Formats: sequence, C-alpha cells, structure tokens
Amino acid sequence: MHNNRVYYSATARTVVATLVIAFTACGWVFGQDVPPPLAPPPYTDYKAEELANRALDANLYMETSAEYRACCYQAYNLALFRLKAELAQAKAGKFAVVMDLDETAVDNSGFQATQLRSGLAYDQRLWDVWEEQGFDMVGLIPGAKEFILEARKLDVAVVYISNRNEKFREQTKKALVRLGIEPKAKTDAEAEKLLKLYTTSTDKTARRQEAEHDYMVLLYIGDNLRDFDEKLAFDKLGFGEIKKLPAEQLAGVIKARKEAVDKQKGIWGDKWILLPNPAYGDWTKPLDRGRSDYDRLTPPASAK
Ligand SMILES: [Mg+2]
Repeated sequence: MHNNRVYYSATARTVVATLVIAFTACGWVFGQDVPPPLAPPPYTDYKAEELANRALDANLYMETSAEYRACCYQAYNLALFRLKAELAQAKAGKFAVVMDLDETAVDNSGFQATQLRSGLAYDQRLWDVWEEQGFDMVGLIPGAKEFILEARKLDVAVVYISNRNEKFREQTKKALVRLGIEPKAKTDAEAEKLLKLYTTSTDKTARRQEAEHDYMVLLYIGDNLRDFDEKLAFDKLGFGEIKKLPAEQLAGVIKARKEAVDKQKGIWGDKWILLPNPAYGDWTKPLDRGRSDYDRLTPPASAK
C-alpha cells in the first residue's frame, strides 16, 4: 500500500481538499445520527468502543496489516500458477484473463481514508470526484502488476471489466498508465476493448460475454462475487431488491449467498481468484452499519 501517498503533490492535496469539502457539504444530507455507544460493561478493565469506529478495522487491515499484503500475493501467485497450468492444457487460440480493477488491481485506500475520516457514509457523487480527480492518487494492489506483466509475457490478454464510469475513461486510463498496467494490444482499437467500463448497468455479465466471445477466458479475478457471476449479487438471489427487504429476512439472504458459494466451492482458486476486501463490496449491502448490525453477530450454537 502507499502510505502518505495523498500528501505527495499539490494536485493530490487539492483533490483531498475537494473531497473533504464535498464530504462535509454533503453531511447534512447524508450524515446519519450516530447511535450512542453501548453502555460500558460493569468492569473497569474493559474498554467500550464507539459504533462509529466499526469500519476502521477493515480499512486498517488493508492499509496497515502485512497479512492483507500476504493474502494479495497469495491470490496472484495462485492466479499465475493456475494460468500456466491452463495454458499447458490449452490448444492454440486467443487467451485472456478477466480482471476487475478497484481493490483487485487498483488500490483506492486514499478514498477510503478520506471517507472514513469524514465520518460520512459512501456516496456515489463522492466516488465520482475520486474517479475524475484522484487518478494520480490510486495505488497498486500487491502482486497485481507482476501478474499482469507475466500474463502478457505468456501472450494472454488482460481484459479489465470495471464499474468505473465510462465518462471518466480518460482519467481511469491515466491512472492505469501511471501504475504501468494500462491495456495493451497490437492496435489501439483492440486496447480500448480491453477496458470495459460502466455505461448503463453495473451487471458485468454482458461485458464478460463480450470478452468470452473475443477470447478463451482462462481465469477471472475480482474482489466481489459479482465480478464472477451476477447470480451471486444480493439482489439476484430470488428475494428481490435487498434494500426493500424487511430486517427479519436479511439473515435468510445472507445464508442463501453463502450457500451459493458453497455449492461451487471447487471453482475458488481454480477458475475464479478472489482478492480480500473487508472494507466494502456487495457483502455490505444487507448491513446498516449501525446498531442493528449487532444482530448479524450470532452467539455460538449450543452443542447438540
Ligand atoms: Mg472491485
């Protein structure tokens, strides 16, 4: 990760200032009342914790832990191992790996840090500011660049399928150029097709099909289950739109999504390679990031 990256340049400082102003200005609309802390336990040697700090550990895990880096290297080492094994078996053809960008190849901890420090919830307009202006502040996920360069050496195309906005295509390309992982192909037109961004739908299925039409896709790499199969999105599990579900049904949807992963457990680390992202993603959709999340923590089942 790139600690202190946000302080490197005047441009970077301006973007951070813009984001801070935007976060602050949006606060009256998006700021939520923070529930009071839980009553401290009746023992003086325990420490109470503020609910507002809930997302802190997830982001610190990504920014400060060596374990997070090790997980990323593990994922990319496995990806390269699997890619070489697939190539050894494959007949001649045009081969590709499909990769997500954010928190798969590109590190946005600068955005996460600014958001968390503002005390505000995620908002699409704030992310838009980051996409448009923060392109010189993103970093690399450990192991991603080495993997991408190795794949290309093996004559495997790297197709990025990302829900970054098509309207910020040039800025995203600048970020990728800066990181040394920009799309590369024999022609510029082909290279453009290797960067498939969001236009009208966050569902990546059609873009995956496009890649599968042009190449034999050997591996898929992402940090969100939707990077692999839209059926694993919370809203596509047959319960309807998750935001409209009553609280008592959320446990059922969470269970169903886990079961969907269990059903195809052999594919993980084989065809699908998952990067860790404890800070955000589809998995947070049923959570309110507030006191009611405690209901998701279940005490251990009693022994039967
Ligand atoms: Mg991602």
